Amino acid sequence: MAVTLDTPLTQFPGIGEARGKKLEKLGLTRCGQLLTYYPRYYEDRRTIYSIRSAPLGQKVCVSAMAAEQPRLSRVRKGLELVKLRAVDHAGSLSITFFNQSYIQRAIRAGEEYIFYGTVEEQGGRRSMVNPVFERVGKQSLTGCIVPIYPLTAGISNPLLASLTRLALSCAGSMPETLPQAVRMDHQLAQVEFSYQNIHFPQSFEDLELARRRLIFEELFYLSAGLAMLKTRRGTQAGHKIPLRPAEEFLARLPFSPTQAQLRVMEEIGRDLSSGAPMNRLVQGDVGSGKTVVAAYAAWLAAGAGCQAAMMAPTEVLAEQHYRSLAPLLEPAGIRVALLTGSLAPSAKRAVQQSVAAGEVDFVIGTQALIAKKVAFARLALMITDEQHRFGVAQRAALAAKSGPPGAPSPHVLVMSATPIPRTLALIIYGDLDVSVIDQLPPGRTPVETYVVGEDKRQRMYGFVRTLAGQGRQAYIICPAVEDDPEREGGGDLKSVSTYAQVLSQEVFPDLRLGVLHGKMRPKEKEGVMAAFAAGEIQVLVSTTVVEVGVDVPNAALIIVENAERFGLSQLHQLRGRVGRGSHRSYCVLMTATRSPDAMARLKTLASTNDGFQISQEDLKLRGPGDFFGQRQHGLPQLALADLAGDMRLLQEAQQSAQRLLMADPTLSQPENRPVREQVCRLFAETPDIFN
Ligand code: ADP
Ligand code: MG
Repeated sequence: MAVTLDTPLTQFPGIGEARGKKLEKLGLTRCGQLLTYYPRYYEDRRTIYSIRSAPLGQKVCVSAMAAEQPRLSRVRKGLELVKLRAVDHAGSLSITFFNQSYIQRAIRAGEEYIFYGTVEEQGGRRSMVNPVFERVGKQSLTGCIVPIYPLTAGISNPLLASLTRLALSCAGSMPETLPQAVRMDHQLAQVEFSYQNIHFPQSFEDLELARRRLIFEELFYLSAGLAMLKTRRGTQAGHKIPLRPAEEFLARLPFSPTQAQLRVMEEIGRDLSSGAPMNRLVQGDVGSGKTVVAAYAAWLAAGAGCQAAMMAPTEVLAEQHYRSLAPLLEPAGIRVALLTGSLAPSAKRAVQQSVAAGEVDFVIGTQALIAKKVAFARLALMITDEQHRFGVAQRAALAAKSGPPGAPSPHVLVMSATPIPRTLALIIYGDLDVSVIDQLPPGRTPVETYVVGEDKRQRMYGFVRTLAGQGRQAYIICPAVEDDPEREGGGDLKSVSTYAQVLSQEVFPDLRLGVLHGKMRPKEKEGVMAAFAAGEIQVLVSTTVVEVGVDVPNAALIIVENAERFGLSQLHQLRGRVGRGSHRSYCVLMTATRSPDAMARLKTLASTNDGFQISQEDLKLRGPGDFFGQRQHGLPQLALADLAGDMRLLQEAQQSAQRLLMADPTLSQPENRPVREQVCRLFAETPDIFN
């Protein structure tokens, strides 16, 4: 059958409506999409063994002749066995298939087959269960490197492989979108070769060539897109904010800033006064003191008669910033306001009105800030805290809020505590300049971290009481809000509601406990956080709503229940809630897990306080998709590039894209049109890239 890139898969042999629907679930409706539906991994089935020489306990190909016609037996209702004996010159192999009665007719006595499966041996007799098999000479699944695809129910790997084989007949018509010069410079394989070999490589060397080209391509378009975003901002006019002596600001702080904080403040000052819009990421591990750096920027902006806004990912965090920054800035004559979704409608309207009228200089809030209704009189600085929670698109939405039409674009400052591996930072923040606060305020002692099993639970409770006796406070973090027996592992999961009850009635009747979770009403949440900050609550039983940014320096202990349920970076964030003051601080990871992998993960955390090392490890273990949860980074989805491992290639692609854009900033020369199209496709969800 002849196919083109556009042939609907329902016209492929063996694909009816039902299977078509299932393929659709995988995002596959047309022939061309099969080509970019990449294998997850490959099985090397090239070596073919004789029965005696086959290694035991791993999947291998064995060549043998069916010595008899398969026999079908029904052991009991719902269990059918097909058995046969296969032989070669020196050995005998007994093969069993479960519930695949058609095999009785699919295998014929006297024919040679390759069986792919695990050979077991008992009492000198060799056997195999449920092997994949093919006639010798007609092989496509054995004797070669076999691609293993992500599947869905009703779509088997051999089916997908055979569809892809057919689709590859038109791989030659996939357009070459990479400019010739780029391909030459970086020694990249051709399109057709790459698609052939990403699916059915003859050797792992060929596979590597194919992967290299396709990954480069992805990263190249991504880099080009981000670089264009950056250039676009760079050519716009920004508010020119004059510098003022920083001492005036610093004198208001209850501490002296670290060298790293000073350096970053200076970088920000330079940006703000340059006349071009700032696009800066401030990255610093938890507790490095990013908030005052942001406050400094807001102070500069307000001093120049402009407005600044700061967006935080949760209400708890927005309120905390408001509580700490208002007292710092208001005495300097700066009018600070809080705008969150949970304000009473009338209060919200009042804040919106004063923002629009220019009666507020610095507004702190949640995503409520980017609502259409919010208009600024003269917004000059947009700060987002814990930026990894927001996407590229939200950032763009913010930057678009410049005030009246024709006004200069606001400066953008994003702050992230998530120590993002360099690789990923290059990608996500490819359109930003980066400042790093690589120093913690003095007097901090690293948090001591322990992985603790159920047998030590009583001791752990004792420890909470000891610390409380010394005047310290503690967090106890649970993975769930309410009990839910339906949830996987639900019975064993600690939930805030029930656990807090048990704790307050049976374990700590003498301590003041508080409860905090995302399902509470905003006013309640605010009350609890304020009480905890004021020391009225000694032990706060909470979900991960305290994960980012919450700052209560007197808290010296954080206990995480069911710790194995959390990602490493998340645990590191949680741990960052303590060790923020001068007290010796502790993080206790409670777990009943028996999995050696889970234990090893948790031990990583106990062995280092270095956020970068932890995130690198996390990325390796969980992959970049999970790293930020559901695509929270707001970047286009990458099919192939493994952001943890492809650092060198990323740099190459980035430099190459920059060179191309230098020569043709809008990608409008005919030979670069295909690149432009690819970039547009990749950034389809961020359509303003070319405006
Ligand atoms: P993060 O970088 O995690 O956002 P914060 O800005 O919340 O950190 O700062 C953590 C704590 O450290 C806050 O209580 C803050 O007041 C304090 N802090 C910040 N900078 C310094 C400094 N230079 N010296 C002492 N304490 C500081
Ligand atoms: Mg912070």
